[in-house]
Amino acid sequence: MTNNQQHVVTLPPQQLFVSYTPDVVVVGGGASGIAAAIAAARNGADTLLIEQRGYLGGMGTAALVPAFCPYTDGEKPVIRGIGLELLEKMKQAAGEGFLARYKDQLDWVPIDVETLKLVYDEEVQASGAKLLFHTVADQVLLDGDRISGLVISNKSGRSVVQAKLYIDASGDADLAALAGVPFQSGGEQGELQPGTMCYVVTGADQARFHQFLQVSGQAPSLENSVMEAQRNGDLPDGRKKISGLAWITETTVGFNFGHVFGIDGTKAEDLTRAAMEGRRLIKEQIQFLRKYVPGFEHIHLVHSGDQIGIRETRRIQGDYRLVVDDFMTMRSFEDDIARNAYFIDIHLANASTTMQVKHLPRGKSHGVPYRCMLPQGKSNLIVAGRSVSSDRAVQGSLRVMPNCFAMGQAAGVAAAIASLAGSGFRAVPIRELQRKLIDQGAWLGEHPGIAEAAEAEAVSAIVFDTEN
Ligand SMILES: Cc1cc2nc3c(=O)[nH]c(=O)nc-3n(C[C@H](O)[C@H](O)[C@H](O)COP(=O)(O)OP(=O)(O)OC[C@H]3O[C@@H](n4cnc5c(N)ncnc54)[C@H](O)[C@@H]3O)c2cc1C
Repeated sequence: MTNNQQHVVTLPPQQLFVSYTPDVVVVGGGASGIAAAIAAARNGADTLLIEQRGYLGGMGTAALVPAFCPYTDGEKPVIRGIGLELLEKMKQAAGEGFLARYKDQLDWVPIDVETLKLVYDEEVQASGAKLLFHTVADQVLLDGDRISGLVISNKSGRSVVQAKLYIDASGDADLAALAGVPFQSGGEQGELQPGTMCYVVTGADQARFHQFLQVSGQAPSLENSVMEAQRNGDLPDGRKKISGLAWITETTVGFNFGHVFGIDGTKAEDLTRAAMEGRRLIKEQIQFLRKYVPGFEHIHLVHSGDQIGIRETRRIQGDYRLVVDDFMTMRSFEDDIARNAYFIDIHLANASTTMQVKHLPRGKSHGVPYRCMLPQGKSNLIVAGRSVSSDRAVQGSLRVMPNCFAMGQAAGVAAAIASLAGSGFRAVPIRELQRKLIDQGAWLGEHPGIAEAAEAEAVSAIVFDTEN
């Protein structure tokens, strides 16, 4: 058996039924797609959300990423709107114990995965958006600079979705790539951040673990245990830090630990190898935790990711490319649709290099312009989430779930505006978009232009209405 891409077969012409004709179709039900679908539907668009799995959440549920990255800049929430609503709903739904622990926390809140799946189902349905699970979008039909249809495959067969506006929230910019939008992947040598197979264990003893940290001096003690195990050959070389240790209850913990190198998340063969390598690593890690870390002697593995966690694949070329200088100078833009305060967090591409981390000062953030989501050459397609147009460093920061919620919400509101106007995404009046986002809870910063201009435009819109 080979994976020989030189041999091709020509398929016979096919006639497919048109299965759905929504105003807006969202492909991908991760953080960005969930927020996009809710926002589009709440703003009056007939919206369909397509997801290849049987539940929503993307990396946060399918790959068991154990916690939400910070919503704040260290002083105040930067990510608000739909993303913050969903976080609070999860806390409320996760039960009294969880709520008591995390009620006032906005940064690094652990993910209670089954609760979160249900919250996402309920909130998307409540918005009026329709859901179609177990469905893959695998072909786009083009008409000049427009997408005229999306071919989907599921147990019902293949069919075409004809929408006015298309939101690519696949995390991998699948639609954009299928539509021929140019993109980059990884670093200069094509190197990609590693994947991680996350998992959840039960039977841990949080009190005992915290006592161990107190006695031996917090996090370095854990790194010492990792290094000792690496020296003894009980763990492979590489990542020293157990960064994502998230206590869901006093006995149940989610882990983001270890790396699988050299995988491209847009290749099925790489994902297959990584799934198996990831599970093998977990086995070693469980043995390590039981042997070296007090509080974990009796842990039991209950769940590993349905797939390896993928940190980066494609970054589209959009109308603007957000670059590290914009991040470092905390730049604001006239067309900001979100603010980002999360640090640049690029994981090592192989076991012998180091992580690259750059923080902004507390209380500071930079703007995320609308143009980053507009793929070159396509008028009715927008991309939200970890594959928007940026350099690699900025992708290492923008990629986290709170930011994806914020970008998704903006894409959804923009789609609803464009649908009503019968226009493409570039014709969306930016002030109207910003005003709606602010009205609907998003925070676009204290950048003076936006709030004031949005207000001024609201006034002129009212005057115009009365004259009409
Ligand atoms: C190991 C790891 C640890 C991380 N740690 C954190 C953390 O602690 N906190 C944090 O906030 N973020 C973290 N992140 C980052 C974050 O989880 C992701 O970057 C984020 O989920 C991206 O959101 P998204 O909506 O762009 O894409 P995704 O979450 O990847 O969602 C994309 C969705 O689209 C679906 N899909 C893809 N292609 C198709 C298709 N063709 N047809 C139909 N459906 C499709 C997928 O099934 C998926 O549900 C981590 C990521 C990884 C991998």
